[in-house]
Amino acid sequence: MGHAGKPGRFAGRPVWAEISLGAVVHNFRLIRRQVGSKCKILCVVKADAYGHGAVPIARALEKAGADWLGVTCASEGMELREAGVRKPLLLLTGFWLGEERRMVSHRLTPVVTRLEQLRYLERAARRALNGRLRFHLKVDTGMNRLGISPDEVAAFVRALADCPHLELQGTCTHLASSEVFTSDQTEQQERVFAAALDRLRAARVNPGIVHLANSAGVVFRPSTWADMVRPGALLYGYHQRFDPPEMRAEAQQKMPLRPVLSLRSRIISLREVSAGARIGYNARFVAQRPSRVAVIAAGFADGLVRRLSNTGRLLVRGRCVPVVGAVSMDLTMLDVTDVPEAQVGDVVTIFGADGAARRDVSDVAHEIGTVTADLVCSLGRRVPRFYLW
Ligand SMILES: *Cc1c(COP(=O)(O)O)cnc(C)c1O
Repeated sequence: MGHAGKPGRFAGRPVWAEISLGAVVHNFRLIRRQVGSKCKILCVVKADAYGHGAVPIARALEKAGADWLGVTCASEGMELREAGVRKPLLLLTGFWLGEERRMVSHRLTPVVTRLEQLRYLERAARRALNGRLRFHLKVDTGMNRLGISPDEVAAFVRALADCPHLELQGTCTHLASSEVFTSDQTEQQERVFAAALDRLRAARVNPGIVHLANSAGVVFRPSTWADMVRPGALLYGYHQRFDPPEMRAEAQQKMPLRPVLSLRSRIISLREVSAGARIGYNARFVAQRPSRVAVIAAGFADGLVRRLSNTGRLLVRGRCVPVVGAVSMDLTMLDVTDVPEAQVGDVVTIFGADGAARRDVSDVAHEIGTVTADLVCSLGRRVPRFYLW
C-alpha cells in the first residue's frame, strides 16, 4: 500500500490505523496449514482483538473458518454476540459473580479456574431453562497464575458430580514460557497436564476438548496442539521474541506472517531551530546543530508510547527519522533535518511500511524491551481504524 493511501484523506485530526483483514485471514490460513484440519483453532480476540477492533476481526476470522473465539470477559463476549458473531466464545479469564445470567443468555462459555465457581454456575444453569451449561476447566500446571491445582482434580470430580446442570466441555492449561527454548518449563507443564488429564479419565470424567498452545506453541511445539490451539499474536502478524532470538527468523520462514497494523499520522507543523534550542517538555532534547523539527499529530494517547521519547524512529518519505524530546499526549516531535523535502501534510508512519522502509510493531517492541501485544494494546480509542484487504 502506498504511503499516502486513501484513509489519510479523511477529515479530522490526522492520526489513523490501517488494519488489513486480508493479512489477518492470511495469518489464520498459515495457522490452519500448520496444525492441520483436525485440530480446532480458537482465535484469541481479547482486548479488542489486541487493539485491532474485536468486531471486524472476529467477523473476518469467523468467515475464514475459526472454530472458536476467545475473549477475556463477559462484556467482551457480549459485544461480539450483539454484533452477530455466532461461533462458540470462550471467556479466557473466567467470570465474575453476577455475570452468570448474561453469560447464559449470550451463550458465552466460561473457564472455571476455582472449584467454588462450580456452585455459582450450577445455580445459574438450574435457573436457565434450556439444558446443561457447558464450561471449560483450567488446570494450573506451573505458571502459578490461574487454574485448579492438579491435586484438586479429585475434589473437582466430586464437586462436578453434584452439578447435574453442568457439562465439562473442555480442559485447558496455559504455557508460561512456550517461546523459551533454553528451559524445560514447557515440557514440565506438559507432563503435569497429562497427569491431570489421566486423573480425570481415571475418574471416568471426559476432559472434552483439550487445549494449551498459544502462538509460540503453534509454531514450534506440535506436542502441545492437542485438540485445539489458541493463537493470538500470530493472527496479528507477529512472532514472539524467542529465546534463543535467532529462532524468530526460523519462525518467520516456517510461517511467513503478514503484519496487520499500520499506524500513521501527518506533519502538522515545521520549524527551523538553531543549535542549542530546547525541544518539548522538560527540554529532554537539545539541538546539537541547526535543525528542522516536525510536529506530528500523534502522542501517547494514540499509541505512540512515551517510551519512544528521544529513542523512537518513524518513517517520513520512506526514510527513518528520530523522535526528539518527550513524546507528549497528543503531539510528538521529529528531527527531519536530513529529509529536506519534508513538508507540512506529509504522512508519517509510526508502525508499518512506507515505500521500501518498514517499522513493524515487533521491531519497535524489540528495541524498547517489550512485547508486541503491549504496543498494539496501547492504540488509543480515539484513533480511527480503517479496515482494508
Ligand atoms: C492471550 C491468551 C492466548 C494467546 O496468546 P498469544 O501469545 O498472543 O498467542 C492464549 N491463551 C490464553 C489463555 C490467553 O489468555
